[in-house]
Amino acid sequence: MIVRELTNSDILKQTRTKSVALIPVGSIEQHGPHLPVSTDSEIVSYIARKVSDKAGFLLLPTIEYGVSFEHQPFFNLSLASSTLQKMLVDLCVSLYKNRITTIIILNGHHGNHSAIKQIPERVTKIRGINSRILVCSYWHFMKRRFDHAGFVETSIMLAISKRVQMSKARKGLVPDGLSAKELTRLNRLANKSFLSVTKNGVWGDPRNATVKDGKAILDEIITAIVKESQTWLTGKTRKLHQ
Ligand SMILES: [Zn+2]
Repeated sequence: MIVRELTNSDILKQTRTKSVALIPVGSIEQHGPHLPVSTDSEIVSYIARKVSDKAGFLLLPTIEYGVSFEHQPFFNLSLASSTLQKMLVDLCVSLYKNRITTIIILNGHHGNHSAIKQIPERVTKIRGINSRILVCSYWHFMKRRFDHAGFVETSIMLAISKRVQMSKARKGLVPDGLSAKELTRLNRLANKSFLSVTKNGVWGDPRNATVKDGKAILDEIITAIVKESQTWLTGKTRKLHQ
């Protein structure tokens, strides 16, 4: 159920106390020379749409802006962490006032994570509301290593968008063979300046990306999120990845 397509009475009939709201959060930031700046928002919106179709969740509009300051001087439209947090806390409170108290926040951009992981605690402690809120990032539901405009994101975009310019795709930083320590160091540096680590804004190598791989990766992610969210909702076993 897509909330923006429903009427007030549809929502009153179909939703409320048993509803699970799904909030996708993306970004607008450079994704190399070959992918649109909306890549994270498009990917997380697509996954959230499929998950909500399969699981019967109430899909909220994607928050398309995220925390992307690390991409300066490349193009990025960024919110302060505190702004994104406040927006999400307000949304959770608003959902609560509409008697929707189970919420999944699905993240599509690495730089948003530290801001949004605090949402459940903030909603409870600051606003005194006992909603059940889960925060997760989609790439924790795939076996492949996450990248930025590399093989994974480019394959997914080939599968869902017509705006990939493969002739412009260039190899970026490929972290294969690096020690865990070196990888941690580079990740930390990339969180401050993506340019200084990758040189061209690409983490990974997009040149062999295919539609087929994109579809397979999406299937894996969507199936895993549906399965694990049911487990989380029934409260039987472990928490979802964060
Ligand atoms: Zn991305």
